[in-house]
Amino acid sequence: MSEYFKNIATSASTIATGMGITLKHFLNAFNRKGDAGIDDVDYFRQVDGLVTLQYPREAVPTPLRGRYRLHNAIDDCIGCGQCVRACPVNCIEIETIKVMPEDLAACGKTSGGQQKKFWVPVFDIDTAKCMTCGMCTNVCPTECLVHTPVSDFSEFDRQNLLYHFGNLSRIEADAKRRKAAEAQAKAQAEKECKAAEAKAAQAEGPAGEQ
Ligand code: SF4
Ligand code: SF4
Repeated sequence: MSEYFKNIATSASTIATGMGITLKHFLNAFNRKGDAGIDDVDYFRQVDGLVTLQYPREAVPTPLRGRYRLHNAIDDCIGCGQCVRACPVNCIEIETIKVMPEDLAACGKTSGGQQKKFWVPVFDIDTAKCMTCGMCTNVCPTECLVHTPVSDFSEFDRQNLLYHFGNLSRIEADAKRRKAAEAQAKAQAEKECKAAEAKAAQAEGPAGEQ
């Protein structure tokens, strides 16, 4: 019989202890005022009253080297295409246009001082396909393609997940394409002309010797 009452007493004391802990956390959470200071390095050490985050006003900080949404600082992009080749799911689309010698100054240099030799009218990342593997950022020679700390970028429309970073407007790109095509056609015509002249000279050579 004494065992019976002892068990009841143990149960009552266990419940009281549990409820005491619950009540303590409830009161701490109730009394917690204002922002929790999520950016504070000691944020997760302040256990009292920290029950849940008031998302999106508060959010768990992303780790320093976390891989989240990509960003291309296009002014530093040299259009080398290494990121495109490295991407295992083909979610980067790029178009480059060769910069004409007279436009080199206008195209400018990267922040590291490297002369840019290509316009990049199209640099699109299909973020819906991106698996944030980081292979593109690892190979980028100018480190313009980086992962940002932005982890929440959900959209209702899938089209909004296609990010555009190109450095020319459509009109500018058309003009540069035309100019590059004309220069290429001119160079090709000169090459063919020289080849024809050389052929003619070769044909005249033996006749002149006779
Ligand atoms: S992080 Fe990976 S999947 Fe995403 S664009 Fe870069 S290489 Fe492609
Ligand atoms: S690897 Fe970097 S510099 Fe090269 S095209 Fe991609 S983003 Fe631009």
